[in-house]
Amino acid sequence: MCHDEIFNLLKNKQTELIKRIAAIENDFKKGRSQDFSEQTTETENDQVLDEIHHEAKSELQQVNAALQRLEQGSYGLCVKCEEAISPARLMALPYTNTCIHCAE
Ligand SMILES: [Zn+2]
Repeated sequence: MCHDEIFNLLKNKQTELIKRIAAIENDFKKGRSQDFSEQTTETENDQVLDEIHHEAKSELQQVNAALQRLEQGSYGLCVKCEEAISPARLMALPYTNTCIHCAE
């Protein structure tokens, strides 16, 4: 993969995550304004939403960090052992910052 391809991939991912987070935050607001009878299910929904929200946020952080590394020219290098991360791993997880050995 060339620089531009990775950049576009990460940018798309970033846009997708920002949209997803906004949608979840919208759901939170809607859920709270509903009436009391539905509160039990709402609480459960809130927990699930909370988890998805948290996951999306941390994924977005990783994407942002990857874009920064791309800019600085350190993209594709493991932050722990400084070895190059395998292209197959980067294809599957474009925003990863550790090689397969350090991730385990
Ligand atoms: Zn490593």
